[in-house]
Amino acid sequence: MKNCRVCGGVIATPAYETPAPALTSIMTFLDIPTRVFICDGCGHAQCDDIPDIQAFYDTGYRISLNSDNHDQIFAVKPDGSVIYRTDHQTDISLRLLDLPAGATLLDYGAAKADTLRKMTVVRPDLKAHVFDVSADYQAAWQGWVPADAQAIYNAPESWKGFFDAAMSHFVIEHVADPVGFIRDIGALLRPGGLLLLSLPNVSANPGDMTVADHLNHFSHASVRYAAAAAGFTLKTIDDTSFPGAFFAVAEKCAVPVALFEDREAVAEAVARAREICDFWTKATLHLDDAARRLSGKRAAIYGAGAYGSWICSRIGEHVAVTAFLDQNPGLQNTEHFGHPVIAPAALAHDAEALFIGLNPLKARAAIGSMPYLQRPGLELVWLEA
Ligand SMILES: [Zn+2]
Repeated sequence: MKNCRVCGGVIATPAYETPAPALTSIMTFLDIPTRVFICDGCGHAQCDDIPDIQAFYDTGYRISLNSDNHDQIFAVKPDGSVIYRTDHQTDISLRLLDLPAGATLLDYGAAKADTLRKMTVVRPDLKAHVFDVSADYQAAWQGWVPADAQAIYNAPESWKGFFDAAMSHFVIEHVADPVGFIRDIGALLRPGGLLLLSLPNVSANPGDMTVADHLNHFSHASVRYAAAAAGFTLKTIDDTSFPGAFFAVAEKCAVPVALFEDREAVAEAVARAREICDFWTKATLHLDDAARRLSGKRAAIYGAGAYGSWICSRIGEHVAVTAFLDQNPGLQNTEHFGHPVIAPAALAHDAEALFIGLNPLKARAAIGSMPYLQRPGLELVWLEA
């Protein structure tokens, strides 16, 4: 039995459960089972706490730290040029917040604060501030965030009620108490101040459901509930600008906000979360079967991201994994779990099976557009049976 992280309601049994190891968002494994619980009260889905969560983020979670130039690719344009994730986040954030000249803006859980830095290039009038629960990122802030606009571990007293706006990109999915998290940010905003949150949209990217350090898998309904419970009214949820993610804008209210209670929206969220959990239950069995059936064969995995990593963790004992295929030029010629990452067209001619580690909502169209992967003797193994 669990209590919902958003509304506190009781959740009797998990909707999805699979034994250790559990995959994290930074492609490492934790020695814990993966369990997903769905709340009938508010439409939230959640995973178990991960062990020693403070240490994981203080010293263990070094996303994008190794290279200044490392940035995830958001899209590749027809002319072959790439759009980077933080550039796209920057555009969306500027548009959705639409801040007045000279506004004070806090990046909460900032990490390297690349999005904030890029926003201040376009809008040098903005007064940028950063906060994080790790000291790892200080070097990345030097030179463009004043010392008194930086805080680590605790926000200073002088920041209470100070900010016109705050934003937090892809943090809230990691926190054990998301309502407390929003309330803590709210304490730093003036009444009427704006909060921009970006977070994964599990409905559009079902793989998010099995990521162990994503303790929260929000629906529209549970985002609304969490915002209201923390004293905000939700103004916008944009679920189209950034595929696989929500961008939500909420306004801090001076008076308590009525809780969000739309039974139809909650029922819809619960049904979708259950559908995704059922998908993963079936995919786990299907993949185990395929791995046994293809035992000893030469197989590659398409996709060196979350889906491909998850597949690798399930099949590696049985199948001889020869390579990961990935279109991201930043990943090609690297190693992933000890296997080379190569361009899809470079798949060896003697490969006998290709496990497809892509978002199942997009996988068949993506693979179908690559004629060199349709050939006799190469079995394509999809996540769904
Ligand atoms: Zn709930």
